[in-house]
Amino acid sequence: DAVAERIAAGEVIERPVSVVKELLENALDAGAQDIRIEVRGGGLRLIRVIDDGYGIPASELAAVCIRHTTSKIVAFEDLDHLATLGFRGEALASIATVAEVTIQSRVRGTSDEEPASWATWRGGKLEERGLRARPEGTTVTVTDLFYNVPARLSYTRAARTENGHIVQLVRRYALGYAGVRFSLALDEHMAVQTSGSGDLATTLTELYHLALDEMVQEIQASDGQHYVLRGYIGNRVLAQGSRQYINLFVNGRWVQSRTLQDALERGYRSLLPKGKHPLLVLAIEVPPHELDVNVHPAKTEVHLLQEAIITEAITQAVKAVLERSPA
Ligand code: ADP
Ligand code: MG
Repeated sequence: DAVAERIAAGEVIERPVSVVKELLENALDAGAQDIRIEVRGGGLRLIRVIDDGYGIPASELAAVCIRHTTSKIVAFEDLDHLATLGFRGEALASIATVAEVTIQSRVRGTSDEEPASWATWRGGKLEERGLRARPEGTTVTVTDLFYNVPARLSYTRAARTENGHIVQLVRRYALGYAGVRFSLALDEHMAVQTSGSGDLATTLTELYHLALDEMVQEIQASDGQHYVLRGYIGNRVLAQGSRQYINLFVNGRWVQSRTLQDALERGYRSLLPKGKHPLLVLAIEVPPHELDVNVHPAKTEVHLLQEAIITEAITQAVKAVLERSPA
């Protein structure tokens, strides 16, 4: 029934940042090169993601907020080799259950004069649809989030807290997709802006407002078999008390791993003052069969089959970089 559905949706969409994540991943799956995000009122009032991706055909628009509707589903055997971030067809349906969602879209390559389609859902029901001109790509607007889930509303923290989570999420994707332009406006204030240069070092400086020489020391290492490490470490910027400036990617996916973070920080040895953590981005590539990821999209943990080899390599790579840096 409707109540059960709302509760289930509330589990998938825990807080505003979950909505931003799903919409961002859809934009990336659609091959967007330019993604603009607007957030108001900590995401409860409005979350809007505008992309220049391949768009949604008018004939499919009405279905995208129906559970398990996905254009991405592949054979079950393909789950190990997913090319897209989404595949379950649950995100938009869940969001539409607990908010008002408007999607406007024009398919890439269609003529300017051809009207694009839009539709609005509220509480899971298609309310209105129509045609209106717009540029290529898709705009998804989510308003009144959790209007019908009081428990979620009361659980949601102050706008500042929610905004903080959203900024961190967008930074993560900007680093993971350095070739894509990202912007994030929080209540009209531009919080994140990247150029989509494709260069990780440039993206880092754009995200943290640093001069290039202020921070980045390049890490590169590989044993030609189990790992390739590529990244940058800050030699000056140290964050007090939090590891939020450590960004780790394994085979392109942002992961959280104490083990890997510890390995990174061991490389700093005495250079890292007590209680401080470095600014750092590291992309680790491992052969797919040496990686054990739970494919659930919400999972950010990772299990590396050659963990001992890789952690040691990380520590040594950081050490080597710091030893040759002038600091
Ligand atoms: P999933 O991503 O798991 O397929 P979603 O609920 O996130 O499920 O999206 C449902 C479908 O809507 C997608 O499979 C895709 O076809 C379409 N879609 C959603 N967002 C976009 C977008 N920004 N650009 C193009 N198509 C989109
Ligand atoms: Mg999706």
